[in-house]
Amino acid sequence: MSNLNVKIGLEVHVQITSLKSKLFCSCSSEYRGKPPNTNVCPTCLGLPGALPVVNIEAVKAALMVALALKCTISDVLVFSRKHYFYPDLVKNYQISQYDGIGSVAIARNGLMTINVDGKTKPIRIRRINIEEDPGKIIYPTGSLLTSKYTLIDYNRSGIPLLEIVSEPDLTNPKEARIFIDKLRSILEHIGLVNPELEGSIRVDANISLEGGSRVEVKNISSSKDVERALTYEIIRQSKALEHGEVIRRETRHWDDLKKVTISARVKELEEDYRYFPDPDLPPFKISKELIEETASKLPELPDQRVERFMKTYGLSEYLANVLVSEKGLADYFEDCVKICGEPESIGNIIVNDLKRWIDELDLSIYEAIRLFPQKDLCQLVDLLNKNVINIKILKEIIPRALKSGKSASTIVYEEGYVDISDEDVLLKIIDEVIRENPKAVGDALTNPKAINYLVGQVMRKSKGRANPELTNKLLIKRLNELSRASSNAN
Ligand SMILES: [Zn+2]
Repeated sequence: MSNLNVKIGLEVHVQITSLKSKLFCSCSSEYRGKPPNTNVCPTCLGLPGALPVVNIEAVKAALMVALALKCTISDVLVFSRKHYFYPDLVKNYQISQYDGIGSVAIARNGLMTINVDGKTKPIRIRRINIEEDPGKIIYPTGSLLTSKYTLIDYNRSGIPLLEIVSEPDLTNPKEARIFIDKLRSILEHIGLVNPELEGSIRVDANISLEGGSRVEVKNISSSKDVERALTYEIIRQSKALEHGEVIRRETRHWDDLKKVTISARVKELEEDYRYFPDPDLPPFKISKELIEETASKLPELPDQRVERFMKTYGLSEYLANVLVSEKGLADYFEDCVKICGEPESIGNIIVNDLKRWIDELDLSIYEAIRLFPQKDLCQLVDLLNKNVINIKILKEIIPRALKSGKSASTIVYEEGYVDISDEDVLLKIIDEVIRENPKAVGDALTNPKAINYLVGQVMRKSKGRANPELTNKLLIKRLNELSRASSNAN
């Protein structure tokens, strides 16, 4: 994939879920779970004569993100109308911002670094816009293509969104996933977005291959799906180019059930939107004081937290980066360390075991914490320190807790997951293994590395409960005895 000269740019739409009301009216921002079309007023229904009033908290939120992403902030706030016709858009225009002649985005020219395979890569941020969310289209009997009819719920209409646009500095799908995860972590650290809420982060991904036009895949709802959709597009486009086909400039949808992209329409050009400044919302000066006030409230951001984790807890850069990649994971780590200390082993277990299983079982960090709370991990570490369980058992209990919802200590005792450190019990198992594997014993007598096979057999026989260090020690002892006995016989 590396020689295809892939360029990827992302437009991330983020709902500012921390706000109480919509962007231009006083309707509640909590639209989820409400009966359809009840969380509305004349303004967010676009009725004639209704006038928008800017929610200043949304502007402050945008400034906060702009500062976190090292953007240049505009000294004036201008809202523009972006015209297009779609059933979820009540006014046939969206109040947004336009970065061009006669108008300007609230922030531009920012920078965010991502960490890819231990290397830091800068990704430029083109701009940040404030805009309103449209309503929601519902397909009651299937999908966009198959449903017999369509319903529209305007409860979401007017929810404040930030549109964060990157330059096409990303060169592969994995970088795109890491970019979104890092951005989400920044937004979570600022406290503006609850990523657990369905649809709170949606991504449009632009991708072009050398020799083809730019294709936009719209409305992808997770970073993993962005990676999948872009991988799909690289394969689709490179095959088409190989066959001499022309890659048109177009918009595609991501079908997250079939995991494919589907052609939707030929993309509108910027001029098709007929942007012009919204006469209902006169330009608004962004004062230096407002920016300074916002800057003074910026909390610790992920990059600073990584530094602190390395300094305060002595973690490696790798561990610190993985932990801070999700605010929930970093908080979980710090909570555990507060309860039971041992930052290094806690960090290792979280990154190498817990995180791996969270990904494998496709859980969110918050679901995982409910199933395997901080005190459970600390209990296991305590049992490990007291030699009641060994590290192998600890690693086994984590997925069992995540899958069953049982507490870790229940699993330890119910399932007899207790470490065997009794020498007599272990020697009995070891002698059986030696009897049953004469060839492996012969190998181990001449080649010390071959002992691992025998250790493995003891582990298997004990269902993973044998203490590995003690097993190793006792096996060596037994083998030495055997070796002495055979040389005496000679
Ligand atoms: Zn309203």
